[in-house]
Amino acid sequence: MINGIKPLDRSLRWGMVGGGGTSQIGYIHRSSAQRDGTFTLMAGAFDVDAERGKAFGRALGVDENRCYASYQALFAGEADREDGIEAVSIATPNNTHFEICRAALEAGLHVVCEKPLCFTSEEAQILADLCSINHKIIGVTYGYAGHQLIHQARAMIAEGLLGDIRIINMSFSHGFHNDAVELDNPSTKWRVDPKYVGPSYVLGDLATHPLFIAETMVPELSIKRLMCTRQSFVKSRAPLEDNAYVLMEYDNGAVGSMWCSAVNCGSMHGQKVRVIGSKASLEWWDEQPNQLRYEVQGEPVRIIERGMGYLTPRALEEDRIGGGHPEGLFEAWSNLYRRFAIAMDATDRADRALLENFWYPDVHAGLQGVRWVENCVRSAESGASWVEFR
Ligand code: NAD
Repeated sequence: MINGIKPLDRSLRWGMVGGGGTSQIGYIHRSSAQRDGTFTLMAGAFDVDAERGKAFGRALGVDENRCYASYQALFAGEADREDGIEAVSIATPNNTHFEICRAALEAGLHVVCEKPLCFTSEEAQILADLCSINHKIIGVTYGYAGHQLIHQARAMIAEGLLGDIRIINMSFSHGFHNDAVELDNPSTKWRVDPKYVGPSYVLGDLATHPLFIAETMVPELSIKRLMCTRQSFVKSRAPLEDNAYVLMEYDNGAVGSMWCSAVNCGSMHGQKVRVIGSKASLEWWDEQPNQLRYEVQGEPVRIIERGMGYLTPRALEEDRIGGGHPEGLFEAWSNLYRRFAIAMDATDRADRALLENFWYPDVHAGLQGVRWVENCVRSAESGASWVEFR
């Protein structure tokens, strides 16, 4: 249980790039990083508009000398200080992630980066190599994966309660962009422009979330080949897709499907992962994250509740209030940030024993998401043909 006791004897000096006052995702980064006393916000380059970013940083209570005009100025300025930042979070549009991550690692910082990590697997590999060379980590904010019941599902699957895993059905299909809302919404505008998002829209923006949740629940599965068909129902978005279907074959004979969409009218998030085995199935839905459906063939459905004594120790480890009280996305993100801090501290101390079995979405999880999108785009562009996963 998490009860406010600090997991580390220090708080990491922390900065942000992006996540400014008008951003969608900046606040959940700040709230989650600071929830458990593991990070203290000391500096930032919060906005593409330098003056607006400085004013926002001051309003957050950051020392005005440490509110910088750009990420380059942030890394240089902090490197010159004895109390300079040790870690940075990157919450900017996707086209900037690679350059900012690389610069941060070269400046000797640990990194938390938004998904998708970058545009190509070559770039992601460069970042992974830099992490190894510089003894730094990148944590990737696949925030939903911090929900406790995903780890309950992982434990139940590992215990064999589902039998042999046969089918994984995944979806993240909301309806918020059924029209060209990007015409008046800056946060959506860059999401449908290849200059900012690279080769895909919903495959990278949405599908990488349930993909990582499924990888967390069933880590031993590895994709052998896949096929993808994608559509731009709002025509001005072409060549980027606002809807896609992906079929996958895994190397143990299991199969999987992904439906990602921004035009699923009426749906809020529609993010579900259903794992089907030879004896039973488990299903998790991000709109009811405190419940996990456990369906044994021939028996009534069981609803497993978060925070209850019957859960596995791993699923209870990050319980903050006990069963019945709903926890949400902010708690899931806080669980991830807590883990990022523990992994950063252990990396600084070269504590290999801790790191060996310590779960968090790391640079390899980021690389896998980028690689998956690349394979989907390759398949879609070759007429939705099956492609070997590489
Ligand atoms: P947004 O457009 O709402 O905000 C982007 C912010 O970055 C703005 O404050 C902007 O001024 C700032 N910015 C842009 N370029 C910058 C630069 N070079 N230097 C400093 N600041 C800069 O975007 P958003 O919706 O908050 O998305 C940001 C990132 O977060 C994207 O990569 C997106 O995919 C990701 N995201 C992740 C989740 C999640 O669940 N993990 C959810 C939403 C968004």
